[in-house]
Amino acid sequence: VKSLAKRNVSLARPTGNAAVIGAGIMGGGIAYQSAVKHVPVVMKDINANAIQLGLNEASKLLQKQIERGRLTPEKMAQVLNSIQPTLNYDAIEMSDIVVEAVVENPKVKALVLADVEKHVSDNAVITSNTSTISINQLSLALKHPERFCGMHFFNPVHRMPLVEVIKSSVTSDETVATVVGYATQMGKTAIVVNDCPGFFVNRVLFPYFAGFCQLVADGADYTVIDKVMEKVFGWPMGPAYLLDVVGIDTAHHAQQVMAEGFPERMAVTYQDAIHKLFTASCFGQKTGSGFYSYS
Ligand code: NAD
Repeated sequence: VKSLAKRNVSLARPTGNAAVIGAGIMGGGIAYQSAVKHVPVVMKDINANAIQLGLNEASKLLQKQIERGRLTPEKMAQVLNSIQPTLNYDAIEMSDIVVEAVVENPKVKALVLADVEKHVSDNAVITSNTSTISINQLSLALKHPERFCGMHFFNPVHRMPLVEVIKSSVTSDETVATVVGYATQMGKTAIVVNDCPGFFVNRVLFPYFAGFCQLVADGADYTVIDKVMEKVFGWPMGPAYLLDVVGIDTAHHAQQVMAEGFPERMAVTYQDAIHKLFTASCFGQKTGSGFYSYS
């Protein structure tokens, strides 16, 4: 991470219509957040079931707002109506900004990004929510890479305030400003970073996880580490619990990317606690067991 670039507000084009490709955990959350902050959004997937799950999740979140007295049923209907579900690309033609949030596979993402570019206007900005794939590498799929950058949200999207905006070596200032503007419209705080393994957050987080894993390998009890970090040091949760929330499979993949990017600093050994849990298919909360058991 070289610098946190300054936002050039005057270059930003306001986002009137957005689109999200992929209606999974992240795509569904991004569509909800956009709609709730008054930016109508197209939500495209290849799987009708995924779209229905995305809409159900949005309904549940809105229902909670009604129960807390923060939303009326009329407003809930309005928000849901501003999420346009679709299985084809035609609906994205009017989008000012597109967030690609399909599976974390560089080949699939490259195909999706090229398809998106064919369907949007010459002014539209295209972004990827990838956690680990190089933005420079993804931009090779596009004819106009200057209109492309990373837009990395965190899970759960409606609660996590940060968005990393990741510039490739050719992303234009106008693109960056527009994406920062859209993140702000969504009620998020954007930081602008250069492309590198781990972007910003994982470069901070994974050395912390590595320190934690080294302590465990040295014989420390991870439940004690969690208690100290949470109850005494005052963080919302300790590293073992956080890894279970993130998902051990997701963390393991990011750890590999960091190890490849920074082999001298971030090498992983077979004694590593994340590696051991991954090998045992204990992926954390999503599978019912990780560092802790969830039943
Ligand atoms: P997910 O598996 O929940 O959802 C992916 C969705 O993409 C699925 O609904 C799938 O049907 C759809 N899809 C696959 N191929 C498609 C295509 N060609 N066109 C349209 N839709 C397609 O995955 P997720 O956890 O939401 O992750 C999505 C992206 O967000 C990944 O790049 C991931 O690295 C990133 N991300 C994930 C998290 C997280 O905590 N889950 C956090 C930040 C970023």
